[in-house]
Amino acid sequence: MAIIRTSAVPLTSISTFRMGGTVAEMALVESEQDLQELFASMPADRKWIVIGGGSNVVFPDGDSDILVIRFAPADIRFEKIDEDTTHLIAPAGAVWDSVVAFAVEHGLSGIEALSAIPGSVGATPIQNVGAYGVETSDVFHSLRAFDVTTNEFVSFSKDDCRFGYRDSIFKHEGKKRFVITEVSYALSTDEPNVPQYPGVADYLASQSITRASLSDIRNAIIHIRSTKLPDPREIASVGSFFKNAIVPRIDAEKLKAEYPTLAVFPINESLSKVGAGSLIDTAGLKGKRFGTISVYKNNALVLVNEGGATREELKNVVEMIIGEVQKKFGITLEPEPELLEF
Ligand SMILES: Cc1cc2nc3c(=O)[nH]c(=O)nc-3n(C[C@H](O)[C@H](O)[C@H](O)COP(=O)(O)OP(=O)(O)OC[C@H]3O[C@@H](n4cnc5c(N)ncnc54)[C@H](O)[C@@H]3O)c2cc1C
Repeated sequence: MAIIRTSAVPLTSISTFRMGGTVAEMALVESEQDLQELFASMPADRKWIVIGGGSNVVFPDGDSDILVIRFAPADIRFEKIDEDTTHLIAPAGAVWDSVVAFAVEHGLSGIEALSAIPGSVGATPIQNVGAYGVETSDVFHSLRAFDVTTNEFVSFSKDDCRFGYRDSIFKHEGKKRFVITEVSYALSTDEPNVPQYPGVADYLASQSITRASLSDIRNAIIHIRSTKLPDPREIASVGSFFKNAIVPRIDAEKLKAEYPTLAVFPINESLSKVGAGSLIDTAGLKGKRFGTISVYKNNALVLVNEGGATREELKNVVEMIIGEVQKKFGITLEPEPELLEF
């Protein structure tokens, strides 16, 4: 066990949006004990932040003396609960997609639709990561976290986490208090549910698959995502830049009648979800470049840092997009990634 310290770390190297200045120090911890020791050795007023893959944050420009804490990857383990359920227990530093691959290889269903989402396990509860009709909260069992106010490790049940759409307690009163060290997911040995999305059906049909296995579903999702989302190794983005809008169903139906290209999905009797990408696309912004920032040509939900973008430039483009969508549809979009200030 060891804490590996690096100084003068450029934030562009630890964020998929490749924005930000430099931080004085980064500490890579390998275990819960390392984390506890690190906090014990820190002056109370030392600013700190935990970062995983840096795929859902936008770092500020300029230099900062904040300490960036990251977790080294560690082993995933299983706990068989009964015939149908196995808990997959993953450390915060594990790469999320390697956990999905591991579950699929071991015949455990529940997270295959969440294939190819960048980032680490420790961040998945923060915004209740989701895609293709599945959220990590659907299979969440519990997590362990370090409480920096008491210097103790605590457990959270699903109810304790107060999950919502791209939301949890860790974005509110749990922020800057709990460092997640391990997450347990309750997976199943049952037949997988095939996500009911046209792209998935088209992919399975193109492969002549009539009864999809876990790996067929994973392959379908990886294939679809590769056509719609930029590969962070090649194109700098944080994936979806805006959350989908949740609006009264009656308003969504009126908008859909006026603008048939909008993606509208009823959620319940009174509410509908309107795809943020379809709002930006229908507002005519897809593929447009505004200096260093562009709206991705294959998916209007994604903003791309074309190189050297500053926070001010990003802020101006984000405000312009929110303004255009508000003017045309009366809906106010909210950014999905965290725009950090140190
Ligand atoms: C191409 C692309 C596609 C994407 N697709 C999706 C998608 O389909 N669905 C989706 O939901 N998201 C998606 N995302 C966003 C992102 O991948 C997820 O939000 C992911 O969970 C972020 O993980 P991370 O490790 O990179 O978190 P980071 O960006 O490093 O951190 C995010 C937040 O979590 C906090 N955090 C990180 N680790 C811990 C910890 N151990 N304890 C406490 N707090 C912690 C950070 O302080 C920060 O507040 C996508 C991003 C990209 C670039």
